[in-house]
Amino acid sequence: MDTTALATLLFPHVTKTPEDIEAEFPPRSLPEGAIVSRMAPSPTGFVHLGNLVQGLTSERMCHQSGGTLFLRVEDTDAKREVAGAVEVLIESLKHYSIHFDEGATVDGDNGIYGPYRQRQRAAIYHVFAKQLVLLGMAYPCFCTEEELSDIHTRQEAEKANYGYFGKWAVWRDRPMEDIKAALDAGLPWVLRFRSTGSLENKIRFTDLIKGNLELTENDIDHVLLKSDGIPTYHFAHAVDDHLMHTTHVVRGDEWLPTLPFHLQLFRALGFKPPKYLHIGPLMKMDGDSKRKLSKRKDPELALTYYREAGFPVASVYEYLMTVLNSNFEDWRRANPDAPVDNFKFSYKKMNPAGSLFDAAKLRDVSKNVISRMSTDQIYREVTEWAKDFDRELFDHLSENEAYTKSILAIGRGGKKPRKDFAVLADVRPYLDFFFDDWFAVTDTYPAQFDSADIKAALEGFMETYDAGDDMNVWFDKIKAVADALGFAADMKAYKESPESFKGSVADVSMFLRVAVTGRLNSPDMYAVMQVLGRERVFARIEAMIETLK
Ligand code: GLU
Repeated sequence: MDTTALATLLFPHVTKTPEDIEAEFPPRSLPEGAIVSRMAPSPTGFVHLGNLVQGLTSERMCHQSGGTLFLRVEDTDAKREVAGAVEVLIESLKHYSIHFDEGATVDGDNGIYGPYRQRQRAAIYHVFAKQLVLLGMAYPCFCTEEELSDIHTRQEAEKANYGYFGKWAVWRDRPMEDIKAALDAGLPWVLRFRSTGSLENKIRFTDLIKGNLELTENDIDHVLLKSDGIPTYHFAHAVDDHLMHTTHVVRGDEWLPTLPFHLQLFRALGFKPPKYLHIGPLMKMDGDSKRKLSKRKDPELALTYYREAGFPVASVYEYLMTVLNSNFEDWRRANPDAPVDNFKFSYKKMNPAGSLFDAAKLRDVSKNVISRMSTDQIYREVTEWAKDFDRELFDHLSENEAYTKSILAIGRGGKKPRKDFAVLADVRPYLDFFFDDWFAVTDTYPAQFDSADIKAALEGFMETYDAGDDMNVWFDKIKAVADALGFAADMKAYKESPESFKGSVADVSMFLRVAVTGRLNSPDMYAVMQVLGRERVFARIEAMIETLK
């Protein structure tokens, strides 16, 4: 076969050589050891937790090493593409603060290794496709869908392996006349790789997460270019990651079975393959067994889920760090206030088998993360969330900024901050009683207390309350009210002989709490009253007294 003639016949429009293209993609000048990696998602409209896991892993590796992270949109599968999906993708990665140094943006490309959308790179792939034809490593195949499915049926009947290989690869060694005739007839064709691999042979390979692997060679003549001239993932991967100087490919381990083919391609093209990190799947417990998170069954696989539920970005990030690096939690315990980026992420601490997603753990981590936020930060987070998901809350918060901040400041800061919120949606039920239009008495006084005592305690409290009192004076006054009514002011005395009292100062505080907050549980009453102000506190106590008449 005259491969030069064939290459010209198939790619008459291609005039550039691989060398010309190489010259357009010079290496980056980066420090020794700098990692270059990428996120290469397909715009299917569905951005999932796995994308984020992969993105964070790449991001940490690149930026910790002084390298470069870029975003490449893998839009070669037009059938799966959904309108607006690229924007959704870029926006959600931005929301999760994955910072790209280069790549596709909503406004176009940023960087000199573009285009960063694969469909726009067709001319580049064609140069390398032509080269493979020239080298005798690729050939056109004119099989129709029916012919391919017929091959499949016959393979089934013969109990043979499936795929286009060996005797089934009917266009692999066809003479030039046949090819010319098919082209002249205007038949659609795909370009196939001429595999020289055999199932008898194994390749050894070291994956940075999975370790040493032994994989069977690829013997299939896979498609490199589809009939519309757009490459398959495999071919685009080899060409792009070579030209874009990717040093490390981080991707899901569903790609492991095609790795032997990818390595063949790199070799055929004369490219040095990158290092690979194949990440195990995200799993969850289903009864007693583990299973992969599924798009159909598990809403928590979608990134939109976390935003809607009100998990701050920092919580999801921190949670994923605990999942990805086994030593992260120890680090966090030792450095409770350090910025998460100070943690030295290492792919060596990743579990080759994948990670277990645990919703309860996520909530726990989130509680800690939110408890460490400053008042301004939590205010910002919750208003931003409410803007999209709870308009009424948003209005209350933005119309009463200073007031809301004083509420959110209760128990914040200090060594043991309150941990009331796992998600931003928890904020409203926590603080609704601070707003008169939301305030309602939802808990009732325990039946063992006498209404007259409750009423007397509430009245007694109002007689001496002074908003200017400090916490000790305030509490001493409550103790005095308790004492006057036969409730123990001293808890120790009460514990020693509860039968000598009607109750304790804790019960008197509870009388106030139910009147002022409407519930049996609330944040610190002194702080609550300070924030509510004397007028509101009294109005509520008076309203409660009315009901006790
Ligand atoms: N487009 C591929 C995917 O979405 C990318 C895999 C890779 O990172 O190479 O699965």
